[in-house]
Amino acid sequence: MNDGASGRLYIDLDALRANYRAVQAQVAPALCGAVVKADGYGLGADVVAPIFAEEGCRDFFVTHQSEAIALRKSLGADVRIFVLNGLPIGSEAVFASNALIPVLNSADQVKAWAGHCQTTGSRLPCALQFDTGMTRLGLSLEDAAQIAGRTDLRAQMDLCLLISHLACADEGDNPTNALQVANFRAITALFPDVPASLSNSAATLLGDQFHHQIVRAGIFLYGGIFNGNPLMAPRPVVRLQARILQIRAVEGGVGVGYGLTQRTSRPTRLATLGVGYADGWPRALSGKGSAWAGDTRLPMIGRVSMDSITVDIGDTADGELREGDWVDLIGPAYDIEAVAADAGTISYELLTQLGARYRRVLIRGGEETSV
Ligand SMILES: *Cc1c(COP(=O)(O)O)cnc(C)c1O
Repeated sequence: MNDGASGRLYIDLDALRANYRAVQAQVAPALCGAVVKADGYGLGADVVAPIFAEEGCRDFFVTHQSEAIALRKSLGADVRIFVLNGLPIGSEAVFASNALIPVLNSADQVKAWAGHCQTTGSRLPCALQFDTGMTRLGLSLEDAAQIAGRTDLRAQMDLCLLISHLACADEGDNPTNALQVANFRAITALFPDVPASLSNSAATLLGDQFHHQIVRAGIFLYGGIFNGNPLMAPRPVVRLQARILQIRAVEGGVGVGYGLTQRTSRPTRLATLGVGYADGWPRALSGKGSAWAGDTRLPMIGRVSMDSITVDIGDTADGELREGDWVDLIGPAYDIEAVAADAGTISYELLTQLGARYRRVLIRGGEETSV
């Protein structure tokens, strides 16, 4: 049936589930928290988060207050939702009424949260983030000592998690990792009764000393791998297909697309596909990327347009592909890491840019449902 969609995005919830289980097994007895920021890395937080919750995940991490409020609606009261970007001063009541846990990143945020707890007479949960060497977000080591000594603050609020983040987790032998974990140990020692969390996906492979009580897994759950990770390969979660809008036979030497930046090198057949950069197919793939018909590579020719790309289908048998057929853009022959590498980016960026125009097809228990 042709419903007019010219791109379709398969999201394999069975793979998502398997990837969650793999991380949980890898880090046990630590717990696997799920990072579902940026709308679940572009796949839909309301789609992916319930799968992790079904697998027993109780700790969810998002970036913004708005993401957290939406997540609270879809997951109900039973889980903890941490807001990584911290507490926007003035939002204390919104956080409290949605039972959101702010990840406090500055002394001002700590003061505001403690003040709100005192005013309302409720000891509300919060986390503290420390900058142990990434120079991005969080309190300093000196702040840690100060806060640890403030028994009044500790009594006012319920400090439930200590967080830090590694700068070089995807480089296993980078000495920064050992330095950061040592800095973090110095901080966690100041709060002996408070659980801690340091690892993203890549850091789960650095060893037990990085796991602490909770890890924060993101990209691995969504099928992304990271540099030099032969130990643990995720199951692919995403498959992206584009529909053939038109097929034409052309002579050699014919310019294709905006600027006619590339010309056919032989008489061949071209197919125009209905996915472009507005759908998150990187414009940087102009002249470099490919689509695939099974195992047959269909090299892109010319620039990526807003809504379409053109590929050379001269290597397929005449009549094998027709107008209305689907070909793979991300699939078994061309996974998200390969696509990202060709586009000069990383799988994180590729996934989070996937557009809203696709027909989304969820795979659950092997069955497909369109959403
Ligand atoms: C995004 C993020 C994560 C998850 O990282 P992955 O590499 O996707 O596993 C964990 N912690 C923080 C603070 C993050 O910003």
